[in-house]
Amino acid sequence: MKRIGVFPGSFDPFTKGHEAIVKRFLPLFDEIIIAIGVNSTKQYMYQLESRIKHIESHFNDQPKIRVEAYQGLTIDFCQKNGARYLLRGLRNTVDFEFEKSIAHMNESVSAENGFGVETLFLMTDQEFSAINSSIVREIKKNGGKIGNFVTNEEFLIMSV
Ligand code: ADP
Repeated sequence: MKRIGVFPGSFDPFTKGHEAIVKRFLPLFDEIIIAIGVNSTKQYMYQLESRIKHIESHFNDQPKIRVEAYQGLTIDFCQKNGARYLLRGLRNTVDFEFEKSIAHMNESVSAENGFGVETLFLMTDQEFSAINSSIVREIKKNGGKIGNFVTNEEFLIMSV
């Protein structure tokens, strides 16, 4: 059976911190799906299509990685794709508390659905632990440079 992991998030935008987590998980899996959650009531800074292309630009040479957008429950997306593992990164205790409740909920709901999904965590690399998509957006909004936090920025197109 293929080992498939799903790394879900908004990735608005995808940062060096996200990239490092995906690369570190890669040796453990046959396939990793970077899954961009789309919530129709949420406003994103960057267009969905450009976020997809931006993420793909980091993994051109990686046939094991694909990028997809999804709506609805992440565990339903996992089941549709035969993925038994949810992949997450942890930066601090705030991430930990938040992730812990989501992981417990996902564990119990997915078991009830008959397709159990485990959440796996990797601690952030020290050098990326301060990188946070919402702070990156704030810097961008105020005219600052985000090149230290995000690479291949040319793929990112702002939403209007
Ligand atoms: P969301 O908006 O759904 O929280 P994000 O796109 O911000 O999603 O993040 C997706 C995942 O990446 C989360 O598990 C988050 O903890 C992790 N992550 C975000 N930034 C970093 C970072 N700098 N280092 C490690 N993990 C990170």
